[in-house]
Amino acid sequence: MSQIDTLPPLRDVINSHELSARKSLGQNFLLDLNLTAKIARQAGDLSACDVLEIGPGPGGLTRGLLSEGARRVLAIEKDPRCIPALQEIADAYPDRLHIMEGDALEIDPLAHLTPPIRVAANLPYNVGTELLVRWLTPPAWPPYWQSLTLMFQREVAERIVAVPGSKAYGRLAILAQWRAEASIVLHLPPEAFTPPPKVSSAVVHLKALETPKFEAKAATLSRVVAAAFGQRRKMLRASLKGVAPDIEDRLRTAGLKPTERAEQISLEGFCALARAVDAT
Ligand code: SAM
Repeated sequence: MSQIDTLPPLRDVINSHELSARKSLGQNFLLDLNLTAKIARQAGDLSACDVLEIGPGPGGLTRGLLSEGARRVLAIEKDPRCIPALQEIADAYPDRLHIMEGDALEIDPLAHLTPPIRVAANLPYNVGTELLVRWLTPPAWPPYWQSLTLMFQREVAERIVAVPGSKAYGRLAILAQWRAEASIVLHLPPEAFTPPPKVSSAVVHLKALETPKFEAKAATLSRVVAAAFGQRRKMLRASLKGVAPDIEDRLRTAGLKPTERAEQISLEGFCALARAVDAT
């Protein structure tokens, strides 16, 4: 194994700080620093960027991000047991690692970050989707982040990049692909983690676009997509009844057949429908 930094191996860090993994915090650690450096590289050129990392744990990915040249890393960790281990990394990389103890769902990181900003994380599975949805639905677009490089359960990763006609296609795909380029860049088997989770994982890279791929109001698109996939087996004329009283006409205006189902409709089709719903 090549040397990433001069800090002790992660297994020793975990032992010396008694960081036995807690299921309630979604703790499945990456201990191979070559692998964490590889994940960090998927985030692109970090040398001019601040990186927001959620859930650094004992610091495997944190070390990868720093050794790959991140200008600065802001790491938010809920488990107080991890803070002393992370402090050792901060000491080895003076002024480049800012550690915050707390719940990422409750902390606004923006005040502590300087653009350009990228996000990279091996997310706790229990809060991963919620964080992703928040990053994808900011009050204004473009968002504060240039890219998101995130580990998910493989099934969630597949929902993010899903295409029409597939079982995985749904709200998450529309949300992710409307204003970002999303792709799976790495697959990881359970054995890559300590302890190994029950499922496989994948790293997704999302690059924010300056403007959405197709015009639509975010709130309308979200309402239409939620209704359509809320009853995905029904025809659109039925599932979207509550969206507008004359929904069949609006579907036709958007170039869609009222008898189609949500999973057959492309992103472009949903955006056309959102525009048709907003038209007076
Ligand atoms: N990044 C480390 C790695 O790759 O080995 C740890 C990843 S582990 C899957 C998820 C981490 O997120 C754990 O360290 C856990 O304590 C932390 N965590 C869980 N819920 C959190 C929350 N709401 N806010 C911040 N960190 C959280």
